[in-house]
Amino acid sequence: MTEKFPSIQSKLPGVGTTIFTVMSQMAIEYNAVNLGQGFPDFLMSEELTSLVDKAMKDGFNQYTHMAGYPLLRERLAEKAARSYNASVDPETQITVTPGGTYAIYTALTTVLQPGDEVIVFEPAYDSYIPNIEINGAIPVLISLQFPDYSIPWDEVKAKITARTKMIMINTPHNPTGSVLSENDIEQLRSIVSGTQILILSDEVYEHLIYDGITHQSMLRYPDLMERSFVCFSFGKTYHCTGWKLGYCIASPALMKEFRKVHQFNCFSCDTPKQVAVAEYILNEDAYKSLGVFLQQKRDFFRELMKATPFKCIPSHGSYFECYSYANFSNEADKDLAIRLTKDYGIATIPVSAFYKNGEDNKVLRFCFAKKEETLQRAVAKLHNLKI
Ligand code: PMP
Ligand code: GLN
Repeated sequence: MTEKFPSIQSKLPGVGTTIFTVMSQMAIEYNAVNLGQGFPDFLMSEELTSLVDKAMKDGFNQYTHMAGYPLLRERLAEKAARSYNASVDPETQITVTPGGTYAIYTALTTVLQPGDEVIVFEPAYDSYIPNIEINGAIPVLISLQFPDYSIPWDEVKAKITARTKMIMINTPHNPTGSVLSENDIEQLRSIVSGTQILILSDEVYEHLIYDGITHQSMLRYPDLMERSFVCFSFGKTYHCTGWKLGYCIASPALMKEFRKVHQFNCFSCDTPKQVAVAEYILNEDAYKSLGVFLQQKRDFFRELMKATPFKCIPSHGSYFECYSYANFSNEADKDLAIRLTKDYGIATIPVSAFYKNGEDNKVLRFCFAKKEETLQRAVAKLHNLKI
């Protein structure tokens, strides 16, 4: 055999290993406090883990419905009605998925044809662009306006073409913690109404929103909802990112096509966890108290960071807050993130990793969804920073 084996053409030639894995690995290697990848280091609800245990003991261990455990879908529809005044049919509009990332990939794969354009705001959660490109579609990149990371709507209007298939939004936003306002919704509406443009709304941080701000879910707006896939994650809502369980809500027409893709990929998700969540979701306080709980952590972290030279770029939601170091260093953000991990023992995420062309505004992302002692230990490492 003369030809190199195996000889395959990469579907993602420009893609390496996700920054979350890179930084978490480095954190382990250098025994650093990990404020990089977004996951809580505190325990999830014992009541919920007991409900999973009960579901398994009660025999809920076989495949459930392809679209998700029916009682869970019913309760999700009730929650959508209570929270957002949305009318959602659990039979035809909700599909439970193995995480929010999978829901996003499936929605994109459901609708994208080669050559379609998708508007993506950067910094963008790192799965979006590869998910678009693997479908032969083209990400049309728009930078959020630094430093408040708001959407430049005039640029969005200017970049709409006959090939624009979809606009992707994410509120609260990873990595910046920015949130969409009612005015943003108006702008979005004015751009899409009367067109065939679809919306993918990543709302995995729906309950992690602070400062008394109301979450602008697509579920609130029937005219936008009819053209949207809205993606959620139980991992974020119940402090169990390792569960990889989420769901997607869309119109019956869009969901019918989504299920065609889903049924031959995952088919159905973890049954005992769905049975458990169907029960636990009745505890409204568990998700309604999340904003206050995590805002306290954000504020605690923000206060600690005042003793460092980093400059806060305020977050209003998500697990994250971004900090600029432009005032004290010109180093590339990836280099600084590596140096902080290796030499100081604190892992973060360089925000340039969320830009396709590596735009570097000298900003690091910190995950504050941690125990107070973890945050204290982490920030103490920055006190020794040589600048
Ligand atoms: N979207 C964003 C913006 C996220 O931060 C995450 C968290 N990883 C997800 C989607 C996906 O969540 P999941 O872990 O449920 O796939
Ligand atoms: N959403 C998490 C973050 O942004 C990580 C998810 C992942 O590792 N894929 O840190």
